[in-house]
Amino acid sequence: MSTPTPFPGPVKAMGSAVHYPQLRAALDKALGLVQHKREVILGELPSVEEARQRLSDVRRYGVDNAGALLQQFEAQLQDGGVTVHWAADSEDAAAVLLEIAKRRQITTSVFAKSMLAEELELEHTLRATGVEVFQTDLGERVVQLAGQRPSHITAPCLHMSAAMIGQLFHDKLGIPYTEDAVQLTMAAREDLRQAFFAAGLGVTGANLGIAESGTIVLVENEGNIRMATLMPPVLVTFMGIEKVVPDLESAHTVLNLLAKNATGQRLPGYVSFLTPDWPGDGQPIERHVVMVDAGRTAIYNDGAQRSLLWCIRCGACQNVCPVYGRVGGHAYGHAYSGPIGACLAPLLSPGPDTEKLPFASSLCGACGEVCPAKIPLPRHLLHLRAAKVARRRGTPLMERLGFRIWRFFMQSLFAYKLSLFFHRLGQALVPGLVHAIAGRLGWHSRRRIPKVGKSFRALWKKGRRPQ
Ligand code: SF4
Repeated sequence: MSTPTPFPGPVKAMGSAVHYPQLRAALDKALGLVQHKREVILGELPSVEEARQRLSDVRRYGVDNAGALLQQFEAQLQDGGVTVHWAADSEDAAAVLLEIAKRRQITTSVFAKSMLAEELELEHTLRATGVEVFQTDLGERVVQLAGQRPSHITAPCLHMSAAMIGQLFHDKLGIPYTEDAVQLTMAAREDLRQAFFAAGLGVTGANLGIAESGTIVLVENEGNIRMATLMPPVLVTFMGIEKVVPDLESAHTVLNLLAKNATGQRLPGYVSFLTPDWPGDGQPIERHVVMVDAGRTAIYNDGAQRSLLWCIRCGACQNVCPVYGRVGGHAYGHAYSGPIGACLAPLLSPGPDTEKLPFASSLCGACGEVCPAKIPLPRHLLHLRAAKVARRRGTPLMERLGFRIWRFFMQSLFAYKLSLFFHRLGQALVPGLVHAIAGRLGWHSRRRIPKVGKSFRALWKKGRRPQ
C-alpha cells in the first residue's frame, strides 16, 4: 500500500496547477476514462448529430421562451402548494434560505449536489449562521472534507486519487487508511446516514423544471438526492431560470444525452421527478422553489451570448479541454471551470479575475464539437476576448506595444526576414541573450526558446534546387 503525498489543497493560480504531478496524473487518468466511455456509449445511438440537434432545439426553445414557461411553471408549483421565490442575485437567494432556516430553527442540513448552490455559495452562507451542512454526494463530501470546492461539474473530486481520499478519510473520519473504493464509500455512507436522520432541511439544485406540470427533475447516481428530498421536513430547491423546458418530452430529450455525455452511462443511476404535490417521507413537507437569475437575464439579453444558457452542465467540454486537462478546475477560481466556466464566469461574476479566463483556451474547438447542446463555445470565447480587448481594461501597455511591434514584423516580408536575421545573429553571437530577455518578461521560465534554424523559404528554395 503506497503512502500518499499530502495534497496541496485548492490550487488557486492558473499557472501553479501544472506543478502538481499528482493532480496531473489524477486528471489524465479520470479524463481519459470518461472520454472513452462517452465515445462507446454515444456509438450506440443511430445518429449522434440528430440527438444533439434535438437537444439543442429543446434548449434553445426553453431559453427563448423562458418568460412564459416560467410563469406556467410557477403557477403549477403554487397550485401544488409549493412556495415560489424569485432571487435576482446571490444575496436574494441567501436571504430566502436564511429566513427559512431561522424560522424552522434548523441546526442540520443536507445538500444534494448542485452547481448553482456552489455558484451562490449557499453552503458557506448557511454555515456562517451556525447550521451544520453535509454535502451528500460522495464527491462533494470528499471536497467538503478537504476544504476545497468541486473541480469538475459532474465529478467534484476528479482531481484526487484514491490515495488522497484514503488519507483524507483517515484524517477526518478516523477510519484506517485504505485506498479501497468500496471501503471508502461505505465509510462515507456511514458518516452521511446519521446526517440524513438529523437534518431538518434539504437543499437541492434542479437539472430541469418542466413548465406544464411544475415538476423538478433531478439527476444523480448515488441515491443521496432521493434521501435529501424525502427525509427532511423542509425542502428548498434552487433552480437557475434558464433550466425550464416546456414538457416531459423535452425533458426526455435532455435526459437522453445528459448521462451519456457526463459519465458515459446510458442513463443516470437515478432520475427523480418531484411533482408539486411531492409528499415527503410520511410527513407533510414544506417545499420551496427559488428561481435564481444572478446574471442570467443579462446573458439572455445579450443575443451574442444567449446560447450559453442552453448548457445542461454535463461537463463534456471540460473532459476534452487540453487546458482543463493540464490545470484542473480549481485553477479557474470559480464554481464553473473548463470551457463553459471560461465563458460563464466572466458573465456571472464580472471582474479582473474572471475576465482573463476566456484566454485560458487553445481554441482547438474540441469543446464545441462535443457539446451535446451544440453551444458554439469557441465563438463565445473569442467574443469575450474581443470584448475584453475592446475595453482595454487590464491589458498592460507593454503587452499592447509588444503586439503592435509583432504585427509590424508579421505584415512586412522585409521586416520579418530582418527580424529573423537579427534573431539568428543574436543567438550566434550572444547565446542565451534572447532567452534572458524573454525570461525577464516572465515568459520561458519553464522552457527554452528553440534555436532559430533556416527559414521555410530557404529550405524550400534548397529543395527546389537539388545539389
Ligand atoms: S457547455 Fe456543453 S459540453 Fe459544456 S457542460 Fe454545458 S452542455 Fe456540457
